[in-house]
Amino acid sequence: MKKIRLLTCNRCKESKSICSDHFFPGDIRKAEQNHTKKTVPTCRQCENAYQAERKRLSRLKPEIFIDGTIYVFTVDLPGAPYKIGMTSGRDTRKRKSQIQTSHWMSVKEVWKSDYFPKVNKLEEKLHKHFDRVRVHGEWFNINEDEIKSIPKLMEEFSKELA
Ligand SMILES: [Zn+2]
Repeated sequence: MKKIRLLTCNRCKESKSICSDHFFPGDIRKAEQNHTKKTVPTCRQCENAYQAERKRLSRLKPEIFIDGTIYVFTVDLPGAPYKIGMTSGRDTRKRKSQIQTSHWMSVKEVWKSDYFPKVNKLEEKLHKHFDRVRVHGEWFNINEDEIKSIPKLMEEFSKELA
């Protein structure tokens, strides 16, 4: 009688028959090419359990909240986009000089907010709100009216986060 060949999973140490219910196609192919191969790094069941656990842990990860200030910077050039960003604390000067080092144009502060709790979440919501005029990263093609609307948006977003 022909003996059914088994492969052993290195994670659960179980030996299972070679089929796609138990193993991934790549491992099955390697086993077909190499008849002395007896183990695989993982079976499907172990990998699925591992992925489910990773997903569960990422949902449990505590949210991080930073208190601080939202700022709007731009560069001294007509039609230039605006950067909507945040900094912890109340002082935006350090952020401005950091950003200045990567710009050949002079960076100027257009507006900054009061001190807010959960300012990193407010920044996320602002970026999402202006997504349709996003140029790149944190830079947006917003106009003056939209800049003036930011304080009110932040008040609304703060209530949502409370
Ligand atoms: Zn396994």
